[in-house]
Amino acid sequence: MSFENIVGNNQVKKFLTKAIEEEHILHSYLFVGTEGIGKTLFAKEFARKLLCIKQEETEECSSCMLLKSNNHPDFYQLEPENKTIKIEQIRDMQQKISEKPITSKRKVYIIVDSDTMTKEAQNCLLKTLEEPPEYATIILITSNEAKLLNTIKSRCVKVSFEPISIEQIKQYAKEKLSINIPEQFIKASQGSIGKLLTMQEQKEIYEQVDNLLKNIEKQDLITTFHQAEVLYKEKEKIQELLEYINVVLYQTKELKKLRTISYVEETKKRILANSNYDMCIDFLLMKMWEEIATK
Ligand SMILES: [Zn+2]
Repeated sequence: MSFENIVGNNQVKKFLTKAIEEEHILHSYLFVGTEGIGKTLFAKEFARKLLCIKQEETEECSSCMLLKSNNHPDFYQLEPENKTIKIEQIRDMQQKISEKPITSKRKVYIIVDSDTMTKEAQNCLLKTLEEPPEYATIILITSNEAKLLNTIKSRCVKVSFEPISIEQIKQYAKEKLSINIPEQFIKASQGSIGKLLTMQEQKEIYEQVDNLLKNIEKQDLITTFHQAEVLYKEKEKIQELLEYINVVLYQTKELKKLRTISYVEETKKRILANSNYDMCIDFLLMKMWEEIATK
């Protein structure tokens, strides 16, 4: 793996490569951007370069090999446990960070989904960000910057990641995945290869949504409700599914279908506001059916 093998975000590649070339490595970075656009991949590759003791990834480099097998003593990746990162996890990390590096010259810590840190955890981490050991680099990763305390953010150098362009995603799908990915998947992925791969993995779910949208104009409301079972069932990923519905509706360019996009948007908001879930879906289906089937 090298930066060249990661799709998109050339500005970030340049920035991080320059930092290494000039040996101007900071103690804390904040990687910000939509989910699934490669922030963690970038962080890991940056970590590999920082820890490397042979200038390149070869089998002779014990650092790169240790990292590859997830056994590097100077690398640590922190992730949420049961959806949050707790103060105990930060304390554990702080204890490890205070010990000098063993294999490499530096120690690198990656905090994935850093916005899931509890307030206590964030305040605890602050101490390390304020006075990091001279050999340490901490990379905080987030797709939800607003949840981090300002005091944390002000201690980090922000590195912004941009969504990957449709063209780059198409090229990636063609070259790396060598499978035919439906156009609407690419559009609904919103520049995120992570999202694209998830959609491809869960193709059946999206096919059910496709069928629902295709048949809605030919059938009665009761059948429509039956066909929409997938929407009632997939609560966890409803926001993605609704976004997908928007993309498919938009692609049809039919006025009556375009008109229902506002109902999809309204449903997204209602669900986020914790309205009764089934009622939100009922509402959406009814409105869509009215617009598409009866007009
Ligand atoms: Zn190496």
